[in-house]
Amino acid sequence: MTEKKALCSGCDIYCQVLAEVPASGKVGDVRVKAVDSRPLMANICMKGVHAPSGFGHPKRVTRPLRRVGARGEGRWAEVSWDAALDEIANRLSDIVAVHGSEALAVSTSQWNTQTDNGAARRFMNLLGSPNWISGVAICAGNTAAVNRLVYGWYPYPDFPKTNCIVLFGHNPKKHSWTPIYNAIRRAQERGAKLIVLDPRRSENAELADLWLPLRPGSDAAMCFGWLKVILDEELYDKAFVQRWTKGFEALKARVEEFPLDRVARLTGVAPELIAQAARMYAASGPSVIPWTPITDQQRNSTSAIRLMCTLRAICGYLDVPGGEVLHGFHRDIIHESELEMHEALSATQQAKQLGCEAHPAFTYRAMARLSGPAKRVWGYEWPNLITGSYMANPSAVFRAMADSDPYPVRAFFTLGNNTLMSFANMQLIQRALLKQDLIVAVEHFRTPTAQLADFILPGDAWLERNALADGFGWTSIYRPSQKVVEPPGECRGVYDFWRGLAMRMGLSEAFPWETNEDVLDYRLQRLKQDFASFAAEHAYHMNKLEYRKYERTGFATPSGLVELSSELLEELGFDPLPYWRDDPPHDPAFPFSMFMGVRDDEFFQTGHRHIASLRARKPDPLMFITVRDAAAVGLGEGDWAQVVTRQGRVKLKASLRADMPDGVIRVPHGWWLPEREEGDGTLSGAWEYADAQICPDDREHLDREQGIPHLKGIACRVERLTDAATVKQPSTPYVASSASAGADDPHAA
Ligand code: SF4
Repeated sequence: MTEKKALCSGCDIYCQVLAEVPASGKVGDVRVKAVDSRPLMANICMKGVHAPSGFGHPKRVTRPLRRVGARGEGRWAEVSWDAALDEIANRLSDIVAVHGSEALAVSTSQWNTQTDNGAARRFMNLLGSPNWISGVAICAGNTAAVNRLVYGWYPYPDFPKTNCIVLFGHNPKKHSWTPIYNAIRRAQERGAKLIVLDPRRSENAELADLWLPLRPGSDAAMCFGWLKVILDEELYDKAFVQRWTKGFEALKARVEEFPLDRVARLTGVAPELIAQAARMYAASGPSVIPWTPITDQQRNSTSAIRLMCTLRAICGYLDVPGGEVLHGFHRDIIHESELEMHEALSATQQAKQLGCEAHPAFTYRAMARLSGPAKRVWGYEWPNLITGSYMANPSAVFRAMADSDPYPVRAFFTLGNNTLMSFANMQLIQRALLKQDLIVAVEHFRTPTAQLADFILPGDAWLERNALADGFGWTSIYRPSQKVVEPPGECRGVYDFWRGLAMRMGLSEAFPWETNEDVLDYRLQRLKQDFASFAAEHAYHMNKLEYRKYERTGFATPSGLVELSSELLEELGFDPLPYWRDDPPHDPAFPFSMFMGVRDDEFFQTGHRHIASLRARKPDPLMFITVRDAAAVGLGEGDWAQVVTRQGRVKLKASLRADMPDGVIRVPHGWWLPEREEGDGTLSGAWEYADAQICPDDREHLDREQGIPHLKGIACRVERLTDAATVKQPSTPYVASSASAGADDPHAA
């Protein structure tokens, strides 16, 4: 049996797995297994094991489809790739001629498409559109950009050598972010401490040295509390602070505003426990605060992320063994940032990036100011870490699509990204999609978003393509993923899509590589290897790690120092220091606090629900609620309920839990029913079950600097559903009329 080395992209961790090549050559017959099956070494979860049956599913789209009915009606005709690309190129050219290049917006999910070798941004930059969005705006990409503001790169945690791990709400499990789960367990086995901050008594909280059950959304306040203790007790690295930071005294003054009794009121955690945790972190020696999808999604997100950066910097844990390491680029492999050609996008077009005026943190407007320092330290002006450094603001893009404000966006491409359900304010997103002259979806299935498209182009899957992964530009560790089988039918990789368009739109010179493999060979040429030999020889390839590089180069910030206070943010009109914004006033109509965006083990984002073996384990979307709260609203285990916010309502099944705090509800992310046929008025259940319809994106619920939504701690109420007619009624029909501007924003002035 021939085996290939592949990187699972069932989620964004990319476990290295082994895949047995089946005699049938069919993706559904591939067997996926762990490279090392020993406990705590087996980096694979159920989604990886069951991936082949998902890719071999009979409902997979394997031929290009052109819409022949109304949007959402579910009537399609097969078309050839050439005919589809010809028409898409013609229609896009017409739109650009009338409205300008910025009238194209693109949304992608890189964990689904894996690398596109920079092709999407390359095409957009050469065409002249800055309007690229992605789920990484609320998941790691935004964190990377904010880290760049403080010290110029996003550091990578050194789990094997660390002394203490701090999980802010993140809860890696055996079947969710499995390699992180295993790395934490191995670190604990050799004596590393674990501090967990989570409203739930999560699996990691059960295994922690300290568990701080903080209120959802209060990460920034908690960090202020830790800093208060660390500064008062002088537990920080004074030599580092003196030589390598800027703004320490100003920060100290800001931290003085957060005595522990105030922090305790804001976070709900006792002052003694806050102090104990801060001391443990600061006194343990090199420690890590790994990326968390929780802090990414709060109205104080930018401040919270900056405060975490501050903690790792002043405690001396930056770029040291056991701490968090600034990788920089691999010296000998051409990185995707370079392939993206951001330098080709003019300053005029960069300035048109949607949302950059109000919320510049991860847009060109802020990040371009780091180009000089990036060149000085990392040798390249445009490091696009986790592809999150040069993004448009998603809400601003959807408003431009819906209302032509500040200018029209009339063409929308969505690649492996179920856009409708992946951002806040689903009502707005649907209205935005329905206003488009051209929607193209590169997809495996007719997702709720694809159902509204003009074209669905069949994409390939990770078992069907060769790829190189570098942690989305985060690290200098490159890993190959070998194609195991050919894609079924006419499924193709996204590189082919972008090159196909480029060839038709006068951009062929910038796409000299005919195939994805040609690009991979080009990227490896400095190693004097082609992709095939590289993949055969290496499980991974990386530079020898060099620590404390800043002593040689300084940091990649305007001052060359760790910027605890940011002149860059001040120039953009923001507080130069991290700060705290109180929650909106309590509304008795919405007595519960809800956190959302949390995934079930069986599914990642909006995917996987078509895989029978996974769905059998979790057939319905479950709302977690305590026994006391459930009793208060008349709910029993398994009863259907609706969670209502000022934005909308969603239907969920009650799961009574002992690990939740009273007053807090957990809403699962990304639910729809792939088994339900199109055209029923709910977009296959999206308008019944998708959490995006209860998530607001008004000013009160957006982080100021980034403009990303608050998903941790939204006020809501819970109502029992008893009437069958009510249960079946979608909260919003998919055929929206041309609603007036702002109709989807209940908070609009
Ligand atoms: S954790 Fe699971 S889904 Fe994610 S990459 Fe690993 S095997 Fe795939």
